[in-house]
Amino acid sequence: MALEDDVLAGVQVHVEATDAGGVRGWSDIVLPLETYVQKTALVFPFAGKGIVLQGGATNGGHRNRSGAFALDAMGLDDAAWGVQRGDGKANTDYPGFGRTLIAPADGVVVHARSDRPDQPVGDASNPDYFAEEFKAQGGGDPGNHVVIDHGNGEFSMIAHFMAGSLRVKAGARVRQGEALGKLGHSGDTNAPHVHYQLQAGPDWQNADALPVHFSNVDQAFLDRGTYFEARAGA
Ligand SMILES: [Zn+2]
Repeated sequence: MALEDDVLAGVQVHVEATDAGGVRGWSDIVLPLETYVQKTALVFPFAGKGIVLQGGATNGGHRNRSGAFALDAMGLDDAAWGVQRGDGKANTDYPGFGRTLIAPADGVVVHARSDRPDQPVGDASNPDYFAEEFKAQGGGDPGNHVVIDHGNGEFSMIAHFMAGSLRVKAGARVRQGEALGKLGHSGDTNAPHVHYQLQAGPDWQNADALPVHFSNVDQAFLDRGTYFEARAGA
């Protein structure tokens, strides 16, 4: 691969193949590199210390269409940046469990689901606790979740809220920083955490993924294993 001189930014891909009869063919393709300029100024959906478990498709998870840049993050305790106490079997072993989740930016809630239970074991994702439609497909259940329309073609999806904690319904207008509910362990989740993704449409299962940056976090990229501290306020 090499950068091509006659495009602003691109990657030249050279593909060669030989067929069964020994005939060789090749093709050169220049793929333009595009940058996406995020329209919404977003804050991380919780304040305080956290760690990223998965930061998009390159980190092993979230290979679905809308989740290519999705983040999973756990909350950490304030003193020691600890991820859990005890043996991790109880949800309350995780300092992030119950942390307030906030609206990343102003918008209108276009989808809210609040009927799901928490996984009863802190470090296990038991399919018995998935919604029926996700049992059939073997996972991917966001549990209690919301989608917020930021009014500019960008939508925030926040998932795995604690059972019974969601405060907003579809149609609600929310302000940046407003409490939506609590970090929980509902749906397909291996430990209490929040799932966040920015997407280009209201339907999280059929929207394009968008890369995301948060104004209250120092790191430009939140990769797997990144410790971060989300400042309160924008
Ligand atoms: Zn996730």
